[in-house]
Amino acid sequence: MRKLDPAARLPSLSVVIPFLNEREVLPLCLARLRQVLDGLGLPYQIVFVDDGSRDGSAEYLQGLLSTEPCLKLVRLARNFGKEAAMTAGIAHAEGDAVILLDADLQDPPELIPDMVRAWQAGADVVCMRRRSRAGESWAKRASAYAFYRLLNRLSRAAIPADTGDFRLMSRRAVRALLKLPERCRYMKGLYAWVGMPTRIIDYDRAARAAGTTKWNYFALFRLAMEGITSFSTAPLRWATGMGAIAALLGGLFGAGIIAKTLMYGGDVAGYPSLMATITFMGGVQLLTIGLLGEYVGKTYLEAKQRPVYLVRDVRSSRATALHDPLSSSPFDACHLAPHHAFDR
Ligand code: UDP
Ligand code: MG
Repeated sequence: MRKLDPAARLPSLSVVIPFLNEREVLPLCLARLRQVLDGLGLPYQIVFVDDGSRDGSAEYLQGLLSTEPCLKLVRLARNFGKEAAMTAGIAHAEGDAVILLDADLQDPPELIPDMVRAWQAGADVVCMRRRSRAGESWAKRASAYAFYRLLNRLSRAAIPADTGDFRLMSRRAVRALLKLPERCRYMKGLYAWVGMPTRIIDYDRAARAAGTTKWNYFALFRLAMEGITSFSTAPLRWATGMGAIAALLGGLFGAGIIAKTLMYGGDVAGYPSLMATITFMGGVQLLTIGLLGEYVGKTYLEAKQRPVYLVRDVRSSRATALHDPLSSSPFDACHLAPHHAFDR
């Protein structure tokens, strides 16, 4: 067997794209990606992760596997959510650098060469920061602005504002990320926790090329709560603080009433203030119990130790650019993995 000269090997790229019902935009996404990646001259692979699509997206990609090179299709057993789908994609990516991209072309693939240059200049993580957000409502922009700032004040690992999942990670960073075992995966927080030498590149976020957003405000609120409760216990401290203040005010109020009764005699007035206090305290108590529940629930989910996602099958193109022609394929194991294989 011929020996490989490691210096002669070109660094390879994996582009990971999680998708849910993106049939409309996938052909466009693939065409634009190809144009950029072919121009780079590096071996690459595109890992599509089907997060339980029901609109024929996965079947469309599966049909391309026999003709299109360098594709890998990881199908999850159902919809596990974008965070889990990205984790699955990253775990199945084999390149020296992994780039995360949305299928809807909101993250322009044309920026990949800049990201690769920054990586080759020594950055382990190349983080893309949105300078502007086209096609997003005023309310979404305002809530995103407020959320990132709040999260950053709360959590210890600095989560750069206005950066999303669009990023490049070196193999070293990917290895570190995959070591984090939590089930409740708030990816933006996990990236920040991993840290490593990071370059930030500003870009203008495009509008969706086709199809509709998969997030409604309820889902975004859930993600925001996930982010805060996964990376900070400050709300628990707030609850303690709020309780202390309420107890103090209640005590002062009670002392005032005793003094007043001693001086002027008792009467039965005060029903409205009593009601106000009871409802206010009831509200505060329910809120803090709910908050506590968030953390207890998180512990419960982690304790069950269920896998983050379940893979239905993994298929690759016959011709894989990452496939090293000089050695026997190190990636055979990834071809047609057994059905219902448990991952991680
Ligand atoms: N997505 C996914 N699983 C989900 C929801 C979304 O894989 O449960 C994918 C979606 O197909 C897209 C990316 O995540 O490629 C971003 O979703 P979307 O564009 O709907 O979110 P937005 O950009 O509006 O925040
Ligand atoms: Mg989008």
